[in-house]
Amino acid sequence: MSLPLYLDYGATTPLDPAVAEAMAPWGVAGFGNPHSAHAWGYRARAAVEAARAEVAGLINAAPETIAFTSGATESNNWALKGLLTAPGQSRRRIVTLATEHSSVLETADYLASIGALLTIVPVRGDGLVDQGDLARALGEDVAIVSVMAVNNEIGVAQDLAAIGRLAHGVGAVFHVDAAQGFGKLPIDVEAAGIDLMSITAHKCHGPKGVGALYRRPFTRITPLLHGGGQEDGRSGTLPTALIAGLGTAARIAGERMADDHAHALALRDALLAGLSVPHRVNGCLDRRWPGNLSLSFPGVAVPLIQRLPGLAISAGSACAAVTGRASHVLTALGLSEAEAKASLRLGFGRFTTLAEIHAAAAQINAVVAAHLAEFA
Ligand SMILES: *Cc1c(COP(=O)(O)O)cnc(C)c1O
Repeated sequence: MSLPLYLDYGATTPLDPAVAEAMAPWGVAGFGNPHSAHAWGYRARAAVEAARAEVAGLINAAPETIAFTSGATESNNWALKGLLTAPGQSRRRIVTLATEHSSVLETADYLASIGALLTIVPVRGDGLVDQGDLARALGEDVAIVSVMAVNNEIGVAQDLAAIGRLAHGVGAVFHVDAAQGFGKLPIDVEAAGIDLMSITAHKCHGPKGVGALYRRPFTRITPLLHGGGQEDGRSGTLPTALIAGLGTAARIAGERMADDHAHALALRDALLAGLSVPHRVNGCLDRRWPGNLSLSFPGVAVPLIQRLPGLAISAGSACAAVTGRASHVLTALGLSEAEAKASLRLGFGRFTTLAEIHAAAAQINAVVAAHLAEFA
């Protein structure tokens, strides 16, 4: 059986063949421990440091501010737990948005269960936070404001610079979960006033299982993983091949950012133009990564996804697919549980063709039209 058409870039993106090529030397031949003080180690270490420079360069940061991790889940956990439990931390409140990723919301819930205070700010129907709502949630007890760069379910991009100014206005640390923004939209940690930023490789054509946490100098966070202290307190032997993959993915993303964006935008517009059935885009259309399109279909309240076996897509996030719950992001926008479960998230980009988008639109048109006819 042939595999369904892959339009689930929000869950993970295809590994770029050039990234795979850059990883290969650090498998069998270059297996040395990058922390070893001999030639095997030095060579691996050089590859790690080259990758660190690539990642840092893409976000206008200095290489030493980048610590490698196992991905954005770990980076989000580290940012929140590390900051709230840092020695001398006197502030106890976490402020975040209703549409954040579970790795931020669950971490915040856990911290609240052991004494932190938590404010979850709602978003407007277009997916953006109201700056006034956010400002009212902020005070001198706020340790951290955590807001994602690009939403993994609806693609909406918050105004990071404006949020950073609000956070700094009360002396809070500004954390950004940039799992879906890194390598796709320009993010400058200086211009946006970002103090901590979570990065992952596999959402921008890199390998799974590697990411990074950017830490502005003098931002005090305690380690999650105690031990040898390799990554400035984040212990564990670094995976050279994965890190080389992240570095190469970052370099390619930097070189191709404008082209990738234009391609995703053209695909998005073709998809919307190709839909002949009534539909609604979830989240605003102007502030977003165009390669992520969440759609609802008025009059349709059944999980459409089950009727589209030819498409590898999801209703909400990949995590929501595991639990079977309605997407908390879509309900935060005001959709009912049934509407959320009947929504479709399509993710596409660098390796998606126009022909694939046309095929997807045709399949969606057929399924939605059949459903509407059935219940007419
Ligand atoms: C995928 C994703 C994560 C988790 O990243 P992993 O590297 O898979 O742990 C966190 N936040 C957002 C917004 C994501 O899309």
